[in-house]
Amino acid sequence: MAKQKGLLIPKPTKMPNKERQCPGCRLRMPADTAAAYDGYYHCSPECWSIYSEVLGTQFSNAIIFGQVHQMTVDAYALQHAGGSHKNKSITIHLAGLHAAYDLGIPQTQIPRLLQQLANYVQHWPYYVPPLSTGPMTAFDIALAGTTEEHILRVKKWADFVWDAWSDHHTKIASLVSSHLH
Ligand SMILES: [Zn+2]
Repeated sequence: MAKQKGLLIPKPTKMPNKERQCPGCRLRMPADTAAAYDGYYHCSPECWSIYSEVLGTQFSNAIIFGQVHQMTVDAYALQHAGGSHKNKSITIHLAGLHAAYDLGIPQTQIPRLLQQLANYVQHWPYYVPPLSTGPMTAFDIALAGTTEEHILRVKKWADFVWDAWSDHHTKIASLVSSHLH
């Protein structure tokens, strides 16, 4: 677009086709004035709304829930680091993926472990977030048509996110092992 320096150009009051990009996962969605988010995750309201849909699907499907729910929650959190996202949350969700990938703990047993960690850790470290967390977003999960596809996509998505945080794998492993016995 050509620059119109010095000219007064009235701003359009309505931009129905305007896109908004999520600051965390980079997902671009048409801006939705009805979507709202007032939490601390570094995400756009539109992205949060897609994520809420994904969670809705998981809460109503026991197979999906049992196999990939915790991984979904962890991957989404870690894809939306930065901004005012709390160190405690990032640490807990890194520990969640560490438990799944490195310790092989079943998804449904991970929340208990994370709760223990939340009770024991006194100082929550800051982990510099990666610049990119891979090509997939919650939107890819929302588009899955079957239970199997949903599960496969979450696993692939979480793989990307976990890989993206590889600079901190050793640190989270050591924090988890020093606090859990
Ligand atoms: Zn996002």
